[in-house]
Amino acid sequence: MNEPIPGNLLFNSLRDKDAIILASNIRIPAGLLEGLFRAAKNLDSAIIFEIARSECNIGRGYTGMVPNEYAEAVKMAAEEVDFDVWALHADHITLKEGSPKDIAETEKLVEAQIDAGFTSFAIDASYLFNHQGGNVREELARNIDVTTELAKHIESRMRGRPFGLEVEVGEIGKKDFQGQVVTTPEEAVTFVRALNENDVYPQVLAIANGASHGNVYDTHGNMMEQVSIDIPQTKAVARALRENYLDVRIAQHGITGTPRELIKRVFPRGDIIKGNVATFWQNLVLNTYKVYQPELYQDIYNWTLETYRSKDPEISDKELFGKNVKYAVGEFRERIDDVDEETVDAIEALSYGECLMFLNAFGSKGTASIVRKML
Ligand SMILES: [Zn+2]
Repeated sequence: MNEPIPGNLLFNSLRDKDAIILASNIRIPAGLLEGLFRAAKNLDSAIIFEIARSECNIGRGYTGMVPNEYAEAVKMAAEEVDFDVWALHADHITLKEGSPKDIAETEKLVEAQIDAGFTSFAIDASYLFNHQGGNVREELARNIDVTTELAKHIESRMRGRPFGLEVEVGEIGKKDFQGQVVTTPEEAVTFVRALNENDVYPQVLAIANGASHGNVYDTHGNMMEQVSIDIPQTKAVARALRENYLDVRIAQHGITGTPRELIKRVFPRGDIIKGNVATFWQNLVLNTYKVYQPELYQDIYNWTLETYRSKDPEISDKELFGKNVKYAVGEFRERIDDVDEETVDAIEALSYGECLMFLNAFGSKGTASIVRKML
């Protein structure tokens, strides 16, 4: 059996190991799941499959999948490829209000994820930042309270089974009048320490460090590489966590636009232990459709522009498409699930190669064996 293993086992056995675990959100499963699992197996790399609340939830989310459908698709691919060292992670369980209603709805989502077999969870209450707070602790108070409440709920619903826990202190991609907002070492330490005081022990922390989710564009509307991640600040946050004896390292979000050679050269492996890649895989599928499924691609393209043009009249077609095409995934779910074998084969082959490159850049080779010793 190749069931998902607890996320904390991956994070704890690979902490400070000079490697980053690839965590991929697979909005369009056919071909991608097998391609990524085969690459992980080939390089003996631990790997995470994840999906965010906005992408997949009880009401289906924008991919059109419920948690159980996603979980089953990933488990089936694991079985087909026969690979064992992987976790199923609930990415961005986002709470934007933190109200009793918001928390109750989130608890229902988490229960559906647990029933589906998720073994790791990312609570994201980073929006609940109090700008009027007198000090860092006060600014983070609501994030701390809501994260604690939900973490306790997950713990009780897991009934003693181990699980991974990621928490988020700084909103990813947040901007103010001076540009990107970045998380300080003091914020990270204050946040994790407060959670520990509440008996909540995350293994990974998402911080704001200059990265943005999804495709990024220049002022002319052309897609560009993302080189905005603040490496010194990221290292400083990790150092502060280490110096305060907190067993938490960093989850890097928003990697899609970052060139692999840059990742390999400058990403601090061991400080960053989880690297999230989502939109990259969606781009790969859409680029394949251009050749193999031109009609489907054209329909997706037209639908996206027609649906979102009025919301953003200023930007170029390219940018409007790149930023909103994710919402077409659920809309076209049936036709996407129906594409022929030849298309799926091409997606699998391409994603296998691209995944090898990510795993190489992340230093992941051999990490599965390290985790396997702890099983
Ligand atoms: Zn993210």
